[in-house]
Amino acid sequence: MSVKSISVLGSTGSIGRQTLAVAGHAGISVSALSANRKTDMLEEQTRKFRPEYVAVYDEDAARDFKVRVADLDVKVGAGLEGLTEAATYEKSDCVVTAVSGAIGLKPTLAAIDCKKRIALANKETLVCAGDIVMKKASENGTEIVPVDSEHSAIFQCLMGRKKGELKKILLTGSGGPFRGKTRDELKDVSPEDAVRHPNWSMGPKISVDSATMMNKGLEFIEAMHLFSVTPDDITVVVHPQSVVHSMVELVDGTVIAQLGVPDMGLPIQLALTYPERVPSMFGRLDFYSLKDLTFEAPDYEKTPCLKLAIDCARRGGTAPCIMSAANEVAVWKFLRHEIGYNEIYDAAALAVEKIPASDDPDLDTILLADEAARSFVRENFSR
Ligand code: MG
Repeated sequence: MSVKSISVLGSTGSIGRQTLAVAGHAGISVSALSANRKTDMLEEQTRKFRPEYVAVYDEDAARDFKVRVADLDVKVGAGLEGLTEAATYEKSDCVVTAVSGAIGLKPTLAAIDCKKRIALANKETLVCAGDIVMKKASENGTEIVPVDSEHSAIFQCLMGRKKGELKKILLTGSGGPFRGKTRDELKDVSPEDAVRHPNWSMGPKISVDSATMMNKGLEFIEAMHLFSVTPDDITVVVHPQSVVHSMVELVDGTVIAQLGVPDMGLPIQLALTYPERVPSMFGRLDFYSLKDLTFEAPDYEKTPCLKLAIDCARRGGTAPCIMSAANEVAVWKFLRHEIGYNEIYDAAALAVEKIPASDDPDLDTILLADEAARSFVRENFSR
């Protein structure tokens, strides 16, 4: 059933803002919001959408926010406790997890326990703890509806199909702004160049991940968990135009693709209205103006991050978590001009090599591995 009221975790980020726009358009109410510390924007959102609960992760910012909204009837929380309260807020029947990083993990698990639909936009949730999250969701009968465009596409291609009909997933990716470039050609790339994605408008972290193709690697791992398939069942296909958002091949050889304009609003809206579809405010594909749709194999030599991620996917255990956490710290360092572009891969690869991985981790082991990878990059990669 289409949802009535949502909690948005990470409401001031790119996905969070688009989610609120979609909710406003679709007449879905907003019960709870959370953000890290952008209190200006959060105040604006609170006045517009009138949530009953707002969590500000940063404690100082939470105090500031409380003063700002003193005239409104809204409860304000802080820290991980606040984030969890927002995720499990009674009136919400769906949680949009748009926070960036492993911080989204515990609140998401809490929301799964409360059987709320998870509109999943936080990659780390499945990359780090896919086994735990999917098991808990299936035990509770909780729906996990992907928001990422590729996973939403695969989800749509598989709607109404039996599990045994699926042969393989064809995960498409644009290849990013530096497609075909060698490591040497990329050594002087600036953060400004890296965040300029040709097709999608996204936050800075995911834009850099798209440039390195680590993003496709993280999506590969997510797809394994979401659709319970093995690494051998997923093929990455480079499709620079981003019109096909991913495909599935069925056992008889039929391929089903999902196409649309590259606008995250579409998968966000479907995650909220699923299984229904409603008219949207987004653009339409004009087939008369589409020139070439091209497809090619990834060049793993030139996209070592993608290769590393697929290796970690095969290893399983804490390897994907270590890689993702190391990558995250390295990307933010790169964005602050503290390390070079190629060092993003170096940091992730070295963390995976040096930090001992565990095969069948529980949640605490995962969170420790996450922290170990972060400290490793902070200590070993700085100028
Ligand atoms: Mg994506």
